[in-house]
Amino acid sequence: MGSSFRLGRIAGVDVGVNWSWLVVFALITWSLASGVFPDQDPGRTQATYVTMAVIAAVLFFASLLAHELGHAVTARREGMELDGITLWLFGGVARFKGRFPSAGAELRIALAGPAVSLLIGVACSLLAWAVALPGGVDGVLAWVGYVNLILLVFNLLPALPLDGGRVLRALLWGARDDFAWATNVAASIGRGFGYLLIGGGIALFAFQGAFGGAWLAFIGWFLLGAATAEQRYLAARQALAGLRVRDLMTADPITVPSDHTLGEFIDDVAWQRRHTTYPVLDDGRFAGLLAFRCVSAVPRDQWDARDVRSCMIPAEEVPRLRADQEAIDALEELSGTSVNRGVVMDDGHLLGILSAADLGRALEAGPRRRP
Ligand SMILES: [Zn+2]
Repeated sequence: MGSSFRLGRIAGVDVGVNWSWLVVFALITWSLASGVFPDQDPGRTQATYVTMAVIAAVLFFASLLAHELGHAVTARREGMELDGITLWLFGGVARFKGRFPSAGAELRIALAGPAVSLLIGVACSLLAWAVALPGGVDGVLAWVGYVNLILLVFNLLPALPLDGGRVLRALLWGARDDFAWATNVAASIGRGFGYLLIGGGIALFAFQGAFGGAWLAFIGWFLLGAATAEQRYLAARQALAGLRVRDLMTADPITVPSDHTLGEFIDDVAWQRRHTTYPVLDDGRFAGLLAFRCVSAVPRDQWDARDVRSCMIPAEEVPRLRADQEAIDALEELSGTSVNRGVVMDDGHLLGILSAADLGRALEAGPRRRP
């Protein structure tokens, strides 16, 4: 989920917003100001409706965040590391690092978000219904309460990766002590729901021309993709089980001194051993990765005039891995970057290099038989 910008840290958790959320924010504000609030609460000025709509959208945003923080804080308490929270098109995603420690822990983490939504939904609805509030406050609270309860119901569908799917997986996992089986069942139901929503959405769109149909199909398509990703991740985890970065990396790779020209690099290094990238060392320190594709794109007559730094991916952009790191974690780290490879460092020394292709070969080989 790229292209998100950082909002800040809340309760020790990094919070980001995906660009798609800005679109959602604008859509919600627009539909509330032009349709929902004028219908619900007629006789006010347009400026009032716009103000109500902006406040309602901000409160909705805050309640999504609170839902995710519910997951995040509980995960922390269960001893799980957290990467952060990103708000995007369909709400929030808390990104966990590593695996759930136990079925019970996953159950508690999965339920914590919906519990927050339930609390907000009930509290706002009760306030709007029971207390006479001035101006448009009533309408805003009623809508925030309603939308939180709707989201709660959707989130509790027993379809992985929705919260209800995590609850289902945790229960199955606990019952049979088989994480892989539980994931496959919950993800398959997720895919089933995905197809159902797509089919229902298309039918709605075709027979009634309803805009809601397109929306429904879109959510189904998202669910299908996310459930499939969940299954693929599981398969990757099984294939890489027990493997560490050390087992898959190219140890002691051929390096290039940073003061070499491209011509020297071609003469001394590249003609002997052809690789896609070569670590560049600056006085023994890792300075970056030289990409062979870049070198070959430079005209021959410029090879002696340019040094290897001109074709180098700088060290800051290259992921750092540890030799004892689990291969599945390295895969996650590399898949989030465009470099597609990472350097394995120990105490400032370059131990090796691991590429996405190395990991891909291990994935193709499938799960190894344990001795
Ligand atoms: Zn949730």
